[in-house]
Amino acid sequence: MPPSPYIKSRPSMLPNGPELITTPAEFISTYYSNGASPDPGRVVRITPFKRNVFVSSYRAYIADFEEYKWLLQHGNTDVWYEKPKKSWIRHQDTLEASGCEPEELAAMDNARPVSLDTPRVWASPALTTPTDDDIFDCIGGHSIDDGFTGACPTCTDEKAEALDSTPLVYYLVLSTCQASDPFLHGAHFNGKPIYKLIKCGSRDAAVAEAFYSSGLNGWTVAFSCVMRVDETFEERDGKIKRVDDLWMLAEEEDEDDSVRVFF
Ligand SMILES: [Zn+2]
Repeated sequence: MPPSPYIKSRPSMLPNGPELITTPAEFISTYYSNGASPDPGRVVRITPFKRNVFVSSYRAYIADFEEYKWLLQHGNTDVWYEKPKKSWIRHQDTLEASGCEPEELAAMDNARPVSLDTPRVWASPALTTPTDDDIFDCIGGHSIDDGFTGACPTCTDEKAEALDSTPLVYYLVLSTCQASDPFLHGAHFNGKPIYKLIKCGSRDAAVAEAFYSSGLNGWTVAFSCVMRVDETFEERDGKIKRVDDLWMLAEEEDEDDSVRVFF
């Protein structure tokens, strides 16, 4: 069979080339608070899909969340959206503040998502924090020897167990460009940015989705965060409360109208 003109040939391994990755677990691993920090940015090659991906792992801030809140709050999963105008977002905030139902965010009919040569994947703490992360500041008054500086084993075990029995939802914001229509060869990166929301029930599932979406489809993972299933925007009004640690999502909340998010 002649080589397809649409697949650029690339050397399978370059000297000092990208790290070769074959599984989701190698792609995005867990990092414990007391252990090594993830590499802030690296290019890996997902060998089963023959694609390079730029993986970054810096931490996320509230401004990053605000950038994608429109999609997290109003988007349905598995359809593509353009970012709405600021006036639309402001209007939704006004509706919400006056207790009205927000309008539906219009999905794109013909999204034509481009497969990027080298998509980016932002592996933020939402995707790298294990549910049994170490807890250093004992919150349960457990007796610990003076001078002991490690994690409290009782708190760590208790919170890991609590978290494992708390239904969580992991959100991924995927993005790419829209292909021009009609398709113009070489000009297909000039389209508008488009976005899609994915929900997963676990970190492992979210990582597998990021692996597949970037590796096979060539789409960027622009943002990720974790919420409780019973505290999403569908259940609550739009007030956000960021939690510093993942285990805090297992705590029962006194205030019942805010949406707690870990990112
Ligand atoms: Zn403790």
